[in-house]
Amino acid sequence: MTKGYDVIIVGGGPAGMMAAARAAEIGARVLLLEKNDVLGRKMLITGGGRCNLTNDANLEETIANIPGNGKFVYSVLHRFSGQDVRSLLKQLGLRTKVEEQGRVFPASDQAVDVVNTLIKYLQQRGVTLGYQTLVDALQIEHGSCQGVWVGDRFLPAKAVVIATGGLSYPKTGSTGEGHKMAKTVGHTITPLYPSAVAITCNDPWIVQREVQGVSLPRVTITLYRENGKVLASEAGDVIITHWGLSGPGALRLGRVVALACAKGQGPLRGEIDLFPGHTWQSLEELVKGKAATGSKRTLKNILSAILPERLCKVLISLAQLNSECPFEKLNRSSLEFLIRQMKALPIRITGTRPLAEATVTAGGVHIKEIDPRTMASKLIQGLFFAGEIIDVDAHTGGFNMQVAFSTGYVAGEAAASLAQEGT
Ligand SMILES: Cc1cc2nc3c(=O)[nH]c(=O)nc-3n(C[C@H](O)[C@H](O)[C@H](O)COP(=O)(O)OP(=O)(O)OC[C@H]3O[C@@H](n4cnc5c(N)ncnc54)[C@H](O)[C@@H]3O)c2cc1C
Repeated sequence: MTKGYDVIIVGGGPAGMMAAARAAEIGARVLLLEKNDVLGRKMLITGGGRCNLTNDANLEETIANIPGNGKFVYSVLHRFSGQDVRSLLKQLGLRTKVEEQGRVFPASDQAVDVVNTLIKYLQQRGVTLGYQTLVDALQIEHGSCQGVWVGDRFLPAKAVVIATGGLSYPKTGSTGEGHKMAKTVGHTITPLYPSAVAITCNDPWIVQREVQGVSLPRVTITLYRENGKVLASEAGDVIITHWGLSGPGALRLGRVVALACAKGQGPLRGEIDLFPGHTWQSLEELVKGKAATGSKRTLKNILSAILPERLCKVLISLAQLNSECPFEKLNRSSLEFLIRQMKALPIRITGTRPLAEATVTAGGVHIKEIDPRTMASKLIQGLFFAGEIIDVDAHTGGFNMQVAFSTGYVAGEAAASLAQEGT
């Protein structure tokens, strides 16, 4: 591992693997250094072990799903798109499939197949792999990156790509050394906070676990500012946990909540619309229709025809009604209260789960210090960044992995070109 390399890639996640393979593909001698004894440890747990590796969305839709500096990656997503990722994997023998909301998975449903296919790509291109190798520092001379340090061992290179990930799920290897190295050489690291993360609530009906595990398909959650104006609103499937709300619909709000709480704006008032496809009036008609057709027309039976039973109990108790109450005995104000609970169920949001549990880290190397066309540092010659270490974060759905692949591909290509200029 001591011979000279054109390009050294630090970090063997999707960004680093793609950067290494692409740099080698265009002729560079490449060394990929990974501190774990395997590559792509985080990838193995993505998409519930199935690896939601990209999304079938077009460029504009993809950018719309990247709330954290999406425009910065416009150029690289255009250069190497989700379609390009799928074509590359196909060439390498891995078939992929598109599921609901454009989410792309390997046809085998096995994340390990994606990792193994990328390893095959690295091997085919002759990348040298260094496992269990933790890079500590960069060597900078006269504003130019000369290589990296692994303990007291110096490894020279003409260009270096840092692809060490964010700070979430640190057990997978992303523990922040890349941020420290970037900061040491003069880069700004914007505040790091959780994104695509579950939100915490302190409503008694949630924390008392009565509805723990209840799924709410296709609901809308709206967050409000103190002055009553809407802060954010997102639709999607939600799962109630004993500490708050999870599932894609809640995760989409995670970064907004984390940011607001970091600014001291929490706790936040929120509402869940359990029936976003209905107006208040049409929902009342739906409920009355159930009451007219059912044989046992108690409140509990009517509501549980349209909502999970455990949630019905909560709504009935919030309305201070008896679940065995016959529907026809319900007075007008009680019915209105129930409909209001279903269209705007109040929640009190206290924050998010910690960064270590987030799907992705918001914040990172400041985008103003990176060239959006090449991922090159604007401060240090020969230094490049790829993946989650950059201050870019996306919603769930395959968009984060795509950002890793696109930034990795472009960084690898640009690093190799720069290294070859000098030969
Ligand atoms: C539970 C979970 C589920 C997810 N599901 C999805 C999903 O379905 N779809 C999606 O698009 N995204 C998903 N993500 C996000 C996605 O996995 C990440 O955005 C993506 O892995 C980032 O890629 P990366 O290469 O930048 O970083 P990582 O994948 O974090 O890779 C960084 C690598 O660098 C190594 N490293 C770190 N420091 C050093 C060092 N000093 N020296 C050497 N090596 C080092 C680490 O060990 C690690 O292997 C999920 C994330 C989590 C946690």
